[in-house]
Amino acid sequence: MSLTDNCGRPLLNLRISITQRCNNRCVYCHREGEVKRANRSAEKMSVEEIVRIAKIAISLGISRVKLTGGEPLMRKDLPEIVSGIAAVPGLRDLSLTTNGLLLGNMAKNLYERGLKRVNISLPTLNAETYRKLGGGKLEDALAGVKAAVEAGFCPVKLNMVILKDVNVGDVPDMIEYARQTGVVLQLIELDPINVSNNYYSTHHRSLDEQEEMLREKAVTIEKRQFMHNRLIYHLPNVTVEVVHPIENSDFCMHCTRMRVTSDGKLKPCLMRNDNLTDILTPIRKGANDEQLKELFVKANLLREPYNKSNQ
Ligand code: SAM
Repeated sequence: MSLTDNCGRPLLNLRISITQRCNNRCVYCHREGEVKRANRSAEKMSVEEIVRIAKIAISLGISRVKLTGGEPLMRKDLPEIVSGIAAVPGLRDLSLTTNGLLLGNMAKNLYERGLKRVNISLPTLNAETYRKLGGGKLEDALAGVKAAVEAGFCPVKLNMVILKDVNVGDVPDMIEYARQTGVVLQLIELDPINVSNNYYSTHHRSLDEQEEMLREKAVTIEKRQFMHNRLIYHLPNVTVEVVHPIENSDFCMHCTRMRVTSDGKLKPCLMRNDNLTDILTPIRKGANDEQLKELFVKANLLREPYNKSNQ
């Protein structure tokens, strides 16, 4: 049985930010909605603390866990985090979102430790645009994609945040690359969080045009009811998923997530920082499992759709 919030939304997914450190500097990064820390060099949560939080969540029916950051692969102890969470009974899915730059050498080990899926941020296939957006080398990210596919992750997804006047024209090439590589492409609408007003107004673009093109080409279209009602377009030999959160009450009404910030706070919504529940301090003060479950229950009741329907 899973927890439900005051709007009847089940709590099924946990997204844990395990570090704020990153080896890329994406100009559009929402940093998972976290406030920038002064000291970003040190990790705030230990392996044991992260695994304990995941364990409590899983005991409450949250069966899907995603690791994020910062860049999760910056942590040398990531393999231990993965095996610790993967061993928890009741877990159905463990995945990771990464820029892929360090994945080439790590994919196999992470797969063997129990990681099931990876999402790799890939905003473009143009090396110069890639470098300008984040500073990294495209070839390293592509090596990460190759290694992920070879390791056996299924599916591998490419996360492409759509940026007006930057990469909109790259969508057809990305679809073709996804088809050839056997991965799923996710087109993601730019979120305004932690992005300057100027950047957002210059580069935000609705995904309507892309969705129209996908509708025309799709053989079938599916809806992910327990993941924001996202649409999945099955084109011949390739799948494209669309993430369209902005002013979308349907997206929020089908949100099934809780986040954990890199400094150990339960965060009900990407867009807000005024309703966090500290779980790390109670862990360090010796709270027992029942007390930690209570914190989850309390945080769950603070979940509410950011965009609400007018009806
Ligand atoms: N470093 C990892 C990575 O690149 O995937 C994990 C952190 S990153 C913040 C997690 C995901 O958020 C990536 O897929 C990225 O594309 C997406 N993302 C970052 N900034 C965004 C924004 N402003 N709007 C929408 N998605 C964004």
